[in-house]
Amino acid sequence: MIENAPCDLLIEDAVVLQGAGAALRGSVAVVGDRIAGIGPAASWTPRRRLSAGGGIVMPGFVNTHNHTPLMIVRGMVEDRGFAPAYTKGIPQGHWLSAEEAYHLALLGHFEMLRAGCTTVVDFYLHPDALARAAAATGLRAFIGGRIADVDTAELAEGRWRFDQAAGERLLEESLALFDRWDGAEDGRIHAILAPHAPDTCSRALLAACGREARARGIPLHTHLAQSKGEVDAVRSREGMAPHELLDDLGLLGPDLIAAHCIWLDPGEIARVGAAGVRVAHAPIGNAAHGGIAPIIALRDAGASITLCTDTKSADMFESMRLAIAVARMKGAGYGIKAEEVLGWATRNGAAALGLEGEVGVIRPGAKADLVLLDPAAPSLRPIVDGAGIVVHSGSGNTVKTVIVDGRIVLEDGRPTLFDAEEVVRRAQAVADGLWRRAGHAPIATAA
Ligand SMILES: [Zn+2]
Repeated sequence: MIENAPCDLLIEDAVVLQGAGAALRGSVAVVGDRIAGIGPAASWTPRRRLSAGGGIVMPGFVNTHNHTPLMIVRGMVEDRGFAPAYTKGIPQGHWLSAEEAYHLALLGHFEMLRAGCTTVVDFYLHPDALARAAAATGLRAFIGGRIADVDTAELAEGRWRFDQAAGERLLEESLALFDRWDGAEDGRIHAILAPHAPDTCSRALLAACGREARARGIPLHTHLAQSKGEVDAVRSREGMAPHELLDDLGLLGPDLIAAHCIWLDPGEIARVGAAGVRVAHAPIGNAAHGGIAPIIALRDAGASITLCTDTKSADMFESMRLAIAVARMKGAGYGIKAEEVLGWATRNGAAALGLEGEVGVIRPGAKADLVLLDPAAPSLRPIVDGAGIVVHSGSGNTVKTVIVDGRIVLEDGRPTLFDAEEVVRRAQAVADGLWRRAGHAPIATAA
């Protein structure tokens, strides 16, 4: 290494979790948007120094499945039923204006950033608003529209009524998003195609999404075997299981990120695994509704596991810990360990999004997407091997500073690109309005 090489940013006095291989004590040098080296501080002449204070520096999380505007129902839907589109008496996604979706997405992206996520997948109605929010918060983001041709307004009543023109319109909107946003913000924003689920998309619409994604070389993302209702609806419509429908259309493979994958029997697990599907595992949301994906069996069958928080608490530390806990409750024993699950939350997510080796690891040449944890956090001591304490005892609240693409976007817990209080205030105002519309009385004022 050249002595006193110039760099833009030097993170000193760190325990560096490289994401692959053992942790190292030393400094991380950043030049532009990339990591230039890991080594002794004396090797570099930085423009700016940042001390990790002896604490942990780790790769930013890759959170592979979210719908930030749905945060509107968080804290309420968990005790009532399933995802909003399938549940009565709560604010519905189609009520949202683009501006309302923007303010909710800002809140969601802020929360994810605050919890150490540097790459997120976010798709819902008003994808343009989601992309604007990602640009404003400085995240690396994969954005899509929620494509479906079932009438979601009727879904909450238990009716699957298809409207082909509506599906085509939503697909067009997602393709327009690709044209406008893919590669924007110095390449931080990417477009995805996200047909909602096998029950809410017709066979023709799923096939069209697959064709368009392939033509553009962009990721395909869907929900799969998320609920028994979905499985039953597809069986009665197509005479096959949801994953069989995707397989029939040539969509079941390593180019597909499939969220949830809960309701699969052993034969079905083998087929999804053998196809090399990228599973977006959402242990917090699964457990909240009393289900859990057979994640160890899927892994052993060949699926690649990634982690997500899917509109629940955006704390990927909680997601990692719960992934281990529920797998062990299902008999996994110590066949699942901290090091592996940290890889699900970082490297595997990156690989699923075509960013293998680029993000999710700390190594020379990779993107500088880094998280500095609080060296004074009592929950993060003792540091012995690094990964164990992060997974088994970390939390989003121990995230101190976040760097995306070499840029500090959160410093000492404060976002650098936007006004945190304003984001929270605007999102609350949107939520107040929508819950009023759903007929929910506001919290009473004490007399
Ligand atoms: Zn979802």
